[in-house]
Amino acid sequence: MYNCDECHEDANRSTYSIPVIINSEKENKMLHIECCSKDQLLDRLNKIALSEILFYQDLLKIVENADQGKIKDFTRKYGTHDEHKFGIQIDKFLEALAIIDKLKE
Ligand SMILES: [Zn+2]
Repeated sequence: MYNCDECHEDANRSTYSIPVIINSEKENKMLHIECCSKDQLLDRLNKIALSEILFYQDLLKIVENADQGKIKDFTRKYGTHDEHKFGIQIDKFLEALAIIDKLKE
């Protein structure tokens, strides 16, 4: 659960299951998708896309050489299966699809 940093209402106010997280040098915000500007949504999509590219580049490095040290570095950077299974990590794919859904309006 979270409270939106824009309207200060809780997660139930949003029709989407996840918030948008805005990380900048100045501040970190958690916002309902409905409370984001179009620029904030596009900026978040850009960050998701760039981080997904890095994720798959790192995966390809493991495919090239499945060394234990590389695997350990990978899980340190991206989390483990259990962390994702229990929802500790936010699903970026779901977040991107939610943003796309909002941009259709
Ligand atoms: Zn809000």
